[in-house]
This record gives sequence, structure tokens and C-alpha cells, in this order.
Amino acid sequence: MRDQYGRELTDLRISLTDRCNLRCVYCMPADGIHFRPLDELLADDELLLLVRVAAELGVRKIRLTGGEPTVRPNLVDLVRTIHATPGIEDIALTTNGLLLDRLAAPLAVAGLNRVNVSLDTLDAAKFAAITRGGRVDQVTAGIAAAEAAGLVPIKINAVVVRGFNEDDVVSLAALTLDRPWDVRFIEMMPFSTVGDFAEAGVVKSEETMAKVEAALGPIAPIDLSGDDPARTYRLPGAAGRLGFISTVSNPFCAKCGRLRLTADGRLRLCLLRDDEVDLLTPLRKGASYEEIKEVFRAGAFRRPFGHALAEQMYPQARAMIQIGG
Ligand code: SAM
Repeated sequence: MRDQYGRELTDLRISLTDRCNLRCVYCMPADGIHFRPLDELLADDELLLLVRVAAELGVRKIRLTGGEPTVRPNLVDLVRTIHATPGIEDIALTTNGLLLDRLAAPLAVAGLNRVNVSLDTLDAAKFAAITRGGRVDQVTAGIAAAEAAGLVPIKINAVVVRGFNEDDVVSLAALTLDRPWDVRFIEMMPFSTVGDFAEAGVVKSEETMAKVEAALGPIAPIDLSGDDPARTYRLPGAAGRLGFISTVSNPFCAKCGRLRLTADGRLRLCLLRDDEVDLLTPLRKGASYEEIKEVFRAGAFRRPFGHALAEQMYPQARAMIQIGG
């Protein structure tokens, strides 16, 4: 399956729920969001049908996200069925890690390959401030459980936010010195719902990189091709790698082949634009399997080239928590 710009679409990110057990300042607006009633979210059988459709159209990699995907009931069963879907070669999970201490092992058995854990700081007080009340020791316990379960390589995603954690990038980067982890620094993306905050808070990758190098030494490039959204580097003698995801200052739209499915059954055509294709309504109105497949394929073909953050066009309709990253 390709889009109108010829980009091959092999990667589908599925938001399993719009609920989350954290309330990160850049992800959820200060006054909260209106969670959708559960019957307006994709049920297990609907979700699995869409995975089959996607796989038949050429999707090979599934990433499960949220909200927080680990709060979805039946997560382990869903992973098992997705794993058994012909064509699906890789399943990853993006999570805040809070529930991994008990879920990592059963998820690995069910067929999950890898996890990305979001962790913006190792400092307990700052973590509580960014997440509006979370406990960082639960995340580190979750990471240890994921590693023990073989969900490797462990990737740590840190959104860098001015005034919250821009100095914590050094201790996060230092994790790679003796651990074979990928620690990736993400520029905060402005969504209208958290707009003023996000605009003022963006720390460009260049600045993060300089801070890491000043403290820990020069970083050597590993992959700057742009095939992966993260440009990757290594600290001198480090076991793991550093990644910089520069969505704002150095977008990678030209090589983006990602599709996203929201928990309420919309195919989101670009993370940072509001264009979506409704799959839930035709599903519930009794469209045939082949008809759904055609809506999916035709929608994916229409993907826009990329975002327009540079022109101050921010996504309006959803907050990040309702898409999944
Ligand atoms: N709850 C899961 C988690 O914490 O990873 C999955 C969903 S969360 C929306 C996915 C990723 O998006 C997290 O790494 C989060 O930090 C990141 N994120 C949320 N809002 C963001 C923003 N405004 N800019 C950049 N990244 C953001």
C-alpha cells in the first residue's frame, strides 16, 4: 500500500484507549479532556478486523499506544491475536511503563516484541510535576520487568520541556553508558489544546545535543539517514545509543510511512494534521469486509505530505492523548 506521494505504508500505530493513568502537562490539557463513552471506541473484534485488513494491505509492523495501552482490558489477548495475524511481523508497545511490572512477562509470551517507555526525568519530584502525580520508581520497575522479559532493545522516550526537564537530559543520556538502551529525546510538539505551553516550551534537538556533549563528551553519529525518525548517536564507549527526534526543527515527513488508528476508529493520516477517515461508522453500518478494506486503502492513499507547524498550523481536533504519538 502506498500513499499519493509513493511512500510505502507498512507501519500502523493503534491507540487502544483514550484513557491514561498519567496526566502529562504537554499531552493532556490542564482542564482535562472529554473521554469518549466506551461504546464509541473500537471493540476487540472491530479492532482485530481492522488489523487483518491492514495486514492484507501490506502493514507489517504494529505499534500499540494510547492513552495508555496497558489500561485496556484484554491487552494480552489482543497482542496474542495480532501476533497470529498473517503478515504481521513485529508488534511494539508505547507505554508509560507503570503497569509493566506485571504485564511485561505475559505480553512477551503473547508475542509482543519490544517496548518504548516514556520517561522524561529520573528525578521523582520533577516526574510528579510533569505527569501531574506519577511515581518514577514504578516506571523504572516496569523497565526492569520489560528487560527481564526480553522485550528488547529497550527504548526510552523523553520529551524535553523547557522549565521542566531540559537539564535532566544529561542523566537520561548517561543511562546509555552501561546499558544497551536507546534513549531518545523528542522535541515537544505544539497541539492547540496545549498550544501556548507547547510553543514556549520547545527545546530544539540542537540545544539538547549540546547539553549532553558538554557534560558527557562528544557524540558520534550512527545513523543520520532519516529512515528512522530518530537521528542516532553514541557517547564515547557507551553500550547504548542516543536518538534525537526533531519533529519541529527538522521534520522527517518525506520519509514518514506511518498510519495511525485512533481508539474511536478513525484512520489519522498525519500525526500533526486533523485529516481523518472514519472506519468505525461503516463498520457499524454493516459494510462488507471488502468495502472496509477499500475505505482504508483509499483513505491511506490521501495522506497529506506532512505537517505545517512552521506555518503555525497546529492540530485542533485532538490532544496527543487522543492520538497516541
Ligand atoms: N501513554 C503512553 C506513553 O506514555 O508512552 C502512550 C501514549 S503517549 C501520547 C505517546 C508518546 O507521546 C509519549 O512518549 C509522550 O511523551 C509523547 N507526547 C505526548 N504529548 C506530546 C507532545 N505534545 N509532543 C511530543 N511528544 C508528546
